[in-house]
Amino acid sequence: MAQENPPVLSGPALWSAQAHLPSVLGRQLTIERADGSYLYTTDGRRLFDGTAGLWHANVGHARPELADAAHDQMRRLETYHVFGRYLNDRAVALGERLAAMSPIEDPKVILNSGGSDAIDVACKLARRHWQREGREDKTMILSREFAYHGLHAYGTSIAGLDFNRTGYGTESLVPETARVSTDDIEAVERTVREIGPEHIAALVAEPVQGTGGVIVPAPGYLEGLQRICRENDILLIIDEVITGFGRTGHMFATERYGLTPDLITFAKGVTSGYAPLGGVLVAPHIWQPFYRDADDTPMFRHGATYSGHATACAVALRNLDILDEEKLVARVADLEQVLADELRVLGTRESVVETRVAGLLGGVALVDDINAEAVTDELVEHGFVTRPLRGNTVQISPPFITTDDELRGLVAAIAAVLTAHE
Ligand code: PLP
Repeated sequence: MAQENPPVLSGPALWSAQAHLPSVLGRQLTIERADGSYLYTTDGRRLFDGTAGLWHANVGHARPELADAAHDQMRRLETYHVFGRYLNDRAVALGERLAAMSPIEDPKVILNSGGSDAIDVACKLARRHWQREGREDKTMILSREFAYHGLHAYGTSIAGLDFNRTGYGTESLVPETARVSTDDIEAVERTVREIGPEHIAALVAEPVQGTGGVIVPAPGYLEGLQRICRENDILLIIDEVITGFGRTGHMFATERYGLTPDLITFAKGVTSGYAPLGGVLVAPHIWQPFYRDADDTPMFRHGATYSGHATACAVALRNLDILDEEKLVARVADLEQVLADELRVLGTRESVVETRVAGLLGGVALVDDINAEAVTDELVEHGFVTRPLRGNTVQISPPFITTDDELRGLVAAIAAVLTAHE
């Protein structure tokens, strides 16, 4: 029975994100420094970062090249906004660099502070597009079951993990949203028909669903989504916040799966987390109407003080150099083979329901009576950081600089923990 008046706990002044506080207070791990793939805690532990933080530390932690890039930039110009007629040279340079590597041809690039930001911008821009076209009823944004698109207003509203969407009074913060099936294309088609495509502005999809449990798309599923979007005048927004910049062994998962989206959101890997930065790649048919040389050309009234933050952009440029110099995207493709081989063996255990791999994104789904959260806690005692995801799944997504042996060591540690439970 629930206690009537449970005591109020204390703890650090910092309110942890996404935490059931009574479950974590008193056993939080505070990281004070890092080196490559290893983290060091204030209580003296050395941990292998088997998740690259929140799938962000792709080139590894605490690299001096990136510290130098930030230091040099701050001494020259910390930032200058990009509102109206002002720009800063680092934001301009990063825009050119991203446009040159973009899987969308001839895009424009909107820069902001992270993935949740990027999703807000993409959804607003999709709605702005249809308003400008005079199709005023096209306001609804579709997302997939189990989707995670950050937790700003739009990310919260389109969350496919219900616990992230609910609890704020209405069905979603922004009312015009709906979920579609994550694997059944005919069901997606039915939902689109029921809602009516004349009401739908865009469909947002992670190519590989991350927080939902490393859900690799069924063959033909993403192509099916794209076809439905094209046939019904629905913009396709591919959320590459996790997958962008190499995580699937391609620079963008859009390339791995042969997609041609209208908008791509990115964040994390663009700086490997060394500075908060995200953004949106925008296809010509969306941006061109805003660039027409006429007095009545419309505006997209979006922006923030830190849109195109010069120091974040300088760090991103150096991070992209490192990806090239060290051929880290090809390295991910090699590591995918190692991870797939290891997980194939792990998957034969009776405690494992299924394993899933795409690039350096791995998921190990466990049987119900072995709790993934308990497994990840025990892995910390073995010196490994992993993370429990939806579907009783353990996340594996280390930095791209991980060695074959470190990756095998991580899977061996999971096997050892499972053995103790079997
Ligand atoms: N989109 C996806 C697919 C994500 O996984 C995340 C974060 O994990 C986000 C958006 C939100 O990014 P951020 O946490 O940088 O706001």
